[in-house]
Amino acid sequence: MPRPIQALIHLDALRHNLGRARAHAPDARVLAVVKADAYGHGIERVYPALRGADGFALLDLAEAERLRALGWRGPILLLEGAFEPRDLETVSRLGLWHVIHREAQIDWLAAHKTDVPQRVFLKLNSGMNRLGFAPQALRGAWARLDVLPQVEEISLISHFADADAGGAFDSGRPADPAGRAPRGIAAACARWLDATAGLPGERSLANSAATLRHARTRLRDAADLAGGPALEAGDAADTPLAADWIRAGVMLYGGAPDHPRRTAAQWDLRPAQTLRTRLIAVQDLQPGDTVGYGSRYRARQAMRIGIAACGYADGYPRHAPGDTECGTPVLVEGLRTRTVGRVSMDMLAVDLSPLHAAGRPAGVGAEVTLWGEGPQGSRLPIDEVAQACGTIGYELMCAVAPRVPVLTQ
Ligand code: PLP
Repeated sequence: MPRPIQALIHLDALRHNLGRARAHAPDARVLAVVKADAYGHGIERVYPALRGADGFALLDLAEAERLRALGWRGPILLLEGAFEPRDLETVSRLGLWHVIHREAQIDWLAAHKTDVPQRVFLKLNSGMNRLGFAPQALRGAWARLDVLPQVEEISLISHFADADAGGAFDSGRPADPAGRAPRGIAAACARWLDATAGLPGERSLANSAATLRHARTRLRDAADLAGGPALEAGDAADTPLAADWIRAGVMLYGGAPDHPRRTAAQWDLRPAQTLRTRLIAVQDLQPGDTVGYGSRYRARQAMRIGIAACGYADGYPRHAPGDTECGTPVLVEGLRTRTVGRVSMDMLAVDLSPLHAAGRPAGVGAEVTLWGEGPQGSRLPIDEVAQACGTIGYELMCAVAPRVPVLTQ
């Protein structure tokens, strides 16, 4: 018998979520972000569902190779561009689009010998201060690229630091303290409009959060502001940013980028990943008994706990709370309960009292849903588990360990 742990990848959910991305950005094209092996889901596994996108975005050349090997002939954008000059040979061979975010990448391109001119996305640092040219340097970089025979087309790109906040679903952000530079997505949009005004070329701005929350970041022109199915009132007064391509990542996998402001269900996103296992033991505790390493959980009354075959070596976060006061949500046979005690390498413990109280006592073999879809239509959003653990759904979905068998449905 193999260990009973399993990850499920739900292709219907991926298709549905891609449909949601399209519905929210009806006049833009969708780059499905599949970096980090499709956020831990596996590029080969998600491909049959996401091949309906207009292109893919990732940052690893080996992952781009894998997409081409699957037969994908359409656009692939390298989100961080070349890491070193020889990457450009692979870029040429695979026909990739690539981001230019610093001067050295222009030097490499100028020295690159190729008969096939490339499409580049010139990146503006709109305030994240991670990658990209400062607003005042963007035009100089653009002019350098424009004269290169290696460049076929220059597009413009930026990435927001604060797209998960603000917008129509907040009652309003606090005013910036007097004298401080404007912050947040409004400031980033202003920087973008200013820095790119008059420059030709297609544009790409919105990630999942911007797509869902900030209509202006994925609208083509002002006429679109007149209506449309997915226009949020709070954005209607803003200038559209003339975006041609959205870059949808976490929403495709069923994560809400702005949880807990809005949940995945409220965005009508479905979980693309389930992590499930079974109980392999039960223990009856007396008042004062403790559970797990460090005895972090102490029973207040007699209770039954179950031992589930999932631990931190499977990708479940070791720091998931499980002390006496507070646990991490989990489903047993579709009923909600909580973890107790510290997560160990291969196991974690769950409180079975709620099942007992509901008249559905669970024993060895009972199904345990760590996140995703449970039995009888039950569901535990990955974002909720992540929130309990002080992290984000992105991190959990990327972290499922290679030893966990995966079933694609
Ligand atoms: N664009 C860039 C440049 C990114 O780095 C990412 C992910 O971090 C995305 C788009 C997709 O973001 P999300 O998963 O929040 O949609």
